[in-house]
Amino acid sequence: MGPCVSQLSSLCTHHHWPWLGRSLWAFSSHSGLAAAISTSGAAATSASGTAKATIEQHDEPEPDLTDEQQSELDRLAGSIASESDDFDEDDWFTEEREAEHPEAAEDKLSSKAERKKRLWSDRYQSVREVPFEALPKVAVIGRPNVGKSALFNRITGSNKAIVFNEPGVTRDRLYTRAEWTGHEFALVDTGGLMSSAAQLPTQEARAQASRDISAAGLPSAIERQAAAGVQESHSIIMVVDGKVGLTAGDEEILDWLRKSHSKKPVVLAVNKCESPAKADLQAAEFWNTGLEPFPVSAISGAGTGEMLDSLVTKLPDIDQAEIDVAAPISVAIIGRPNVGKSSLLNALVGQERSIVSSLRGTTRDAIDTELLLPDGRQFKLVDTAGIRKRAAIASGKDGAETLSASRAMGAIRRGEVAVLVIDAIECTESGRFVVPTQDFRLAELIANVGRACVVVINKWDAVEKETNTLRDYQKEVLAQLRPVSWATVVFTSAVTKQRVMQILDAASLASENHRRRISTATLNMVVKETVAWRAPPQVKNSYRKGRIYYATQAAASPPTFVMFVNDAKLFSDDYRKYFERQLRDNIGFPGTPIRIFWRGKQSQRDRD
Ligand code: GDP
Repeated sequence: MGPCVSQLSSLCTHHHWPWLGRSLWAFSSHSGLAAAISTSGAAATSASGTAKATIEQHDEPEPDLTDEQQSELDRLAGSIASESDDFDEDDWFTEEREAEHPEAAEDKLSSKAERKKRLWSDRYQSVREVPFEALPKVAVIGRPNVGKSALFNRITGSNKAIVFNEPGVTRDRLYTRAEWTGHEFALVDTGGLMSSAAQLPTQEARAQASRDISAAGLPSAIERQAAAGVQESHSIIMVVDGKVGLTAGDEEILDWLRKSHSKKPVVLAVNKCESPAKADLQAAEFWNTGLEPFPVSAISGAGTGEMLDSLVTKLPDIDQAEIDVAAPISVAIIGRPNVGKSSLLNALVGQERSIVSSLRGTTRDAIDTELLLPDGRQFKLVDTAGIRKRAAIASGKDGAETLSASRAMGAIRRGEVAVLVIDAIECTESGRFVVPTQDFRLAELIANVGRACVVVINKWDAVEKETNTLRDYQKEVLAQLRPVSWATVVFTSAVTKQRVMQILDAASLASENHRRRISTATLNMVVKETVAWRAPPQVKNSYRKGRIYYATQAAASPPTFVMFVNDAKLFSDDYRKYFERQLRDNIGFPGTPIRIFWRGKQSQRDRD
């Protein structure tokens, strides 16, 4: 704590707070002040780091990655997202981490049950991939040269800006995704808005853009395009210069915000406060504005954590309904001809609207079928025209197999969840499940492409059953369909509609896990225990032993983890399988494949 506490207290009592208590400001000033007085010293000396580095708050600070490692991780995530199965493991390496494997969070949990409970709750706090449209928007504004772009970059890390060309909107919008303690938001690139408006292709669009933002009484220091950015934002980060102090230009902008955007929460970032000792003094002058000033340094990252903590409490909750509408779960129904795909599709979407194989030759325009359930869940059944076509051709003489395979591949790639339909009659031999070769191949395809999977054993009505048939089948299906041994199995009858809707429940669960992210702290806790149970094997005739320094989740869809180790070669296939099993047992991930990459310092030496 600096000398600031008493100083700030006296500031509070001696200054007039012209706006305190005014409902115009959407944040609570009194409680904010009290908190700021007691924590402002800490604010100035807070740890640096981009918003991206920490996903969730935990007792233990997340170990920082070097900038290079972070950008490699981002690159890895990008390449996995764009073409997951073409990812070349050897293409990526990491430098030696400075720190040794950080001790996982202090494990206060005594029993396994307690630990599981904690992991379970972590699962429900995990960050879902929220579509851009549903993210709350935040604009960074301020006079020229106060450090807006530096702060923008500090908050967004190495995330890339996304250009939105929304229908009915005359200019492009530039957003960059950011995240702080599990809260996601989009930073509106007001700088980008400025240049993109000038680059609009038509005179009409440019004219419309300036009409859009012709707000009366704009402060002179604020560009019109930046004002448009404020217009569409939920919250604002107002940046001022801590070295220069409060200027008339700042006051003009604040005045304008109060008048024109009274409902929007504003966080005041006092930038250029590099020195922890002076930070509070630099910020003190800005209490005069009626806002709580957060001393920050966009260059070093100091104080940005506290500023973002305050920001995220002011963001509106992400509307779950909006996410669901924006991101329907895309489901590909695949399987060999005649297993009952079109019949299941009919059962799912309602008979009247669909066409069964008996009506072969009938064509439909729509390739995908949207499905909205009464509970609001939305699905997109991909290539439903293909399902019907396959069914139609299958009942003919030629071409069924070829068409089926290539179309199935396309559908798997386009879907997030693959529903693999297997004919219960065909896979039953003397009352036992025996996986047909082609179904095994399809399962391999699904796993290789990295899609979530639900296995459907259809025509269950036609199988003779005894008491334990279903349970025995369940075990056998997963044991024999090894590539998707993590999938959920549903036994259906498209004819009687038995359990047909469970396919969608299983698909929802699979998609949730496919998109799931877990915190670095939880992951490292599991890694620590996994290693404690069974240490990596020692190499024969050598004293060398595998060591895991640190683990992190590099991507979702499917969840992809990177283990930073001393030498990847020291981890045998057997150990890697054990490791994946442990991860699954402890963290879950039903319905989705997971990927684990092992990155050693050795692999870099190999390259040199
Ligand atoms: P697709 O080629 O996979 O789309 O298969 P279809 O949906 O065209 O079904 C092929 C045949 O299996 C049709 O004669 C259906 O009536 C029949 N079928 C589909 N599902 C079931 C089921 O659950 N039980 C029974 N007994 N027959 C089914």
